[in-house]
Amino acid sequence: MHATNITEQLRAELYCPSCGDGLVLCKSADPWAICLICSCDHRFFIMPPGPLAAFTATAAGIAVPEIGGLSTPAAIASFWLSDPRARGVLNEQLALLLRAIIESRKILDEPHFSFCPVCGVTLEEYDWPFDVYMKGLRCQSDHRWALRGGRLHSAMETVRLELQAEYSDAVVSQLIAAWLKRDTHLEPNLHDSVRQVLLRSPLCPQSAI
Ligand SMILES: [Zn+2]
Ligand SMILES: [Zn+2]
Repeated sequence: MHATNITEQLRAELYCPSCGDGLVLCKSADPWAICLICSCDHRFFIMPPGPLAAFTATAAGIAVPEIGGLSTPAAIASFWLSDPRARGVLNEQLALLLRAIIESRKILDEPHFSFCPVCGVTLEEYDWPFDVYMKGLRCQSDHRWALRGGRLHSAMETVRLELQAEYSDAVVSQLIAAWLKRDTHLEPNLHDSVRQVLLRSPLCPQSAI
């Protein structure tokens, strides 16, 4: 694992895509992610380069004796987020869920993407020719972005940036339910200790238990 290198982007001022206010660095429960926040409490994350799927699919089988000494779900979640060996096989979506579970913030609405992170001006939709699952957004200065789910990707060669919006509680609950379905594609990524953290979260839907 190595932390994301976005020093160049961080030197420039970034704007909140949700309200256009300035973004500043803040701490989060994920030591590898860069967390940015505005004065309205909208949070966005720059995630470290995720492990390859081939590695995350080994997560269910790895031995993590360190967890034996941990008694709370938050301590187990923190271990998975921070220990380099564990994090090296942790699926990125699980990392986002574990962070949300540890922090237990109340997030009713996911921050949306209305303003350009580079210049703070309104974003408008444009025809994105490359991928039907992505929505194209651009500002008056022709900063171009592609949006998929809650993640905004730069579509400019000069700016390397991906901003992940903080999940709302409703999205966290839906994703927990999806991970607990025992889906054959997801199972190899889910270590039993992580499953227990998801199961014991207040955001775990009753129907998923
Ligand atoms: Zn904001
Ligand atoms: Zn712009």
